[in-house]
Amino acid sequence: MSKYQNAETALIHGGISTDIHTGAVNIPIYQTSTYQQDGLGKMRGYEYSRTGNPTREALEALIAELEGGEAGFAFGSGMAAITAVLSLLESGDRVLISSNVYGGTFRVLDKVFNHFGITYTIADTDDPARYEAEITPDVKAVIIESPANPLMTVTDIAAVSEISHRHGLLVIVDNTFMTPYLQKPLALGADIVVHSATKYLGGHSDVVAGLAVVNSKALAERLAFIQNSTGGVLGPFDSFLLIRGIKTLAVRMDRHVENAEKAAAFLKAHDAVKKVYYPGLQDDPGYAVNSRQAKNGGVMISFELKEGYDIRKFFESLELVMLAESLGGVESLVCHPATMTHASIPADIRAKVGITDGLIRLSTGIENIQDILADLAQAIDRASV
Ligand SMILES: *Cc1c(COP(=O)(O)O)cnc(C)c1O
Repeated sequence: MSKYQNAETALIHGGISTDIHTGAVNIPIYQTSTYQQDGLGKMRGYEYSRTGNPTREALEALIAELEGGEAGFAFGSGMAAITAVLSLLESGDRVLISSNVYGGTFRVLDKVFNHFGITYTIADTDDPARYEAEITPDVKAVIIESPANPLMTVTDIAAVSEISHRHGLLVIVDNTFMTPYLQKPLALGADIVVHSATKYLGGHSDVVAGLAVVNSKALAERLAFIQNSTGGVLGPFDSFLLIRGIKTLAVRMDRHVENAEKAAAFLKAHDAVKKVYYPGLQDDPGYAVNSRQAKNGGVMISFELKEGYDIRKFFESLELVMLAESLGGVESLVCHPATMTHASIPADIRAKVGITDGLIRLSTGIENIQDILADLAQAIDRASV
């Protein structure tokens, strides 16, 4: 647990926030692969940077404190973090995944872990009763995203954790979309939190990184062993960039959410918009559960335009908001889930879970909201056929 009561302060002073050797107010970038030993077996705490690096350690201590966990681990990408966590499983084990799970998580299970005899089932984690029916004796873990993109489906993390633990499952929550500033899965009952820190934690679209936090010493030991053995660690410079990004998480998220709420209201009121998916809207199916477990509806919005609007024209007409994969940076981005972020999910499964070809995903940035809304408005006008 953090010694700082308030999140804004913990973001800046949590973990190992100053350099013990010099007093530098920022953790230096220890750009070194190895460390001098004072004699055989006499190390000063470090031996090789895959195993441990002071810059990475400061970041790992920070994320552990922010998520309220036992230990944190930093990886070269969100997928490397998820791969390391899935490496806790054994051949013959099955994993349950939310239906709107991140495309890369689906792909690594569907195309990589299947080689090692680890299988998966897509489960309705957003409906606890139906979810429990999917738990067969071989199921050993569940991966939850809430909200899960692109339909921003909300899962009751406490309810699903409780059911899962009754069956002995490991509960893994991908908290990329909310960050610990808006939602704390370990406090809700999860065992492991993973992040694509590439998104809001980094916050500036300039670093690819992943983080994992575990809630017990036993899991910490096992994941440390996997991290060191498989080696997908984050480098010192990228660790520094993440620490720097995390310091401003609260102010960025406050503005991101304020802008997202205005963008969701604007889209909802727009004649050309068929549907808006955002758990911050009171009539969203996930609103009640999300309000209970998170500070607010977060930043990510998806929407569909009505018949008579050409989404290709919409994307091409945007002048400020950029068409790009990813999310969570200070700049507003849009993407087309069916052909971009979720293209690795087969078309029949996409159709089944509701990822239509007309769906547009918006990552609202922290630009002036009037500029964002004006750009969306003019692009929607020009998309009319
Ligand atoms: C981007 C993302 C990932 C993958 O992270 P990378 O840093 O791109 O490897 C995993 N989960 C979610 C929810 C994401 O948005």
